[in-house]
Amino acid sequence: MYISLEVITGVTLVLIFLILLLSTNFLKKFSRQQAYYKSIIDTSTNIVLLSDQKNILSANKTFFNYFEAFNNIDDFSKKHACICEFFEEEDGYLSPLNDGVAWVEYLVTFQMIKHKIKMKIDEESYYFLASASLIDEKKNIYALILSDITEQETTRHELVSLSIKDELTHIGNRKLYDDVLLKQIILAQRYVHPFSLVMLDIDFFKKINDSLGHDIGDKVLKEYTRLISYTLREVDTFCRIGGEEFILILPHTTKDKGYILAQKLRKLVEEHKEITSITMSFGVVEYLKGDDEESIFSRADKALYRAKESGRNRVVIG
Ligand code: GH3
Ligand code: MG
Ligand code: MG
Repeated sequence: MYISLEVITGVTLVLIFLILLLSTNFLKKFSRQQAYYKSIIDTSTNIVLLSDQKNILSANKTFFNYFEAFNNIDDFSKKHACICEFFEEEDGYLSPLNDGVAWVEYLVTFQMIKHKIKMKIDEESYYFLASASLIDEKKNIYALILSDITEQETTRHELVSLSIKDELTHIGNRKLYDDVLLKQIILAQRYVHPFSLVMLDIDFFKKINDSLGHDIGDKVLKEYTRLISYTLREVDTFCRIGGEEFILILPHTTKDKGYILAQKLRKLVEEHKEITSITMSFGVVEYLKGDDEESIFSRADKALYRAKESGRNRVVIG
């Protein structure tokens, strides 16, 4: 069948026209959709940011409700390289660097844990719940969401600090131990950081209670935990996990270093002699690949048991 050149040209022109019409419609729809998404993000009461680890690439309107001094993100970026310049360093809140990991990467790595940020903006403190997800792996672009929890955080602050503190000695309690241990295990798995546990128990404490009374027993617990607390580093966690049983979590510490610290504490306790003389036994273990909360605890417990069995007032590495 013969089809004339005019017909072919005509059909081609119609096709080109249709393609142009469809793509124009698609682009219009796409930009309309983008505008919808932008207005949804702008109406959020949360701060929503796009960031490339350090610099903020874009921010929603809510961001500027907090950072009122800036009209747009370029203004902000001229003065501040990172929103983390506003972070207030405090226990339990993210720092620009957390265990050597930049805060945004830290948020992505530990998505299973709630992260809080404390920021000081124009002399006022704000608390945020923070989350991040990697949305462009090649360009390393993250979406960050900060929800204001200032009210809840302020009113709950006192309760929170009570809930992780041991009432008698004011060191950490079992809950703090559980939280910190889980975090250390995740870090050790991911970044191959060593950490050690030291389990400590007062020797023959029952005799002290029996001979001097329970109240004096309490005073002994307070005095000796205070003594030990003063010897520890800021990063160490000291918790009371039973009546006269304690545990130390020592980040970035091998079992040999843990042993040296435990020996130092053992001598300190032995020589202190305040209220009454006491001694303590210690079990030291280091995190091993594959350890979980139970396995590392159980090895520390066994090491402590061996310290007791072999005469007390000593340190055993498990
Ligand atoms: P060991 O050397 O084997 O550890 O002997 P121990 O006597 O220290 O251990 P045991 O487990 O037999 O006794 C622990 C005692 O600790 C018994 C309990 O009365 C006392 N105790 C537990 N909690 C408290 C507390 O809060 N205050 C006081 N004063 N005593 C406590
Ligand atoms: Mg004891
Ligand atoms: Mg005991």
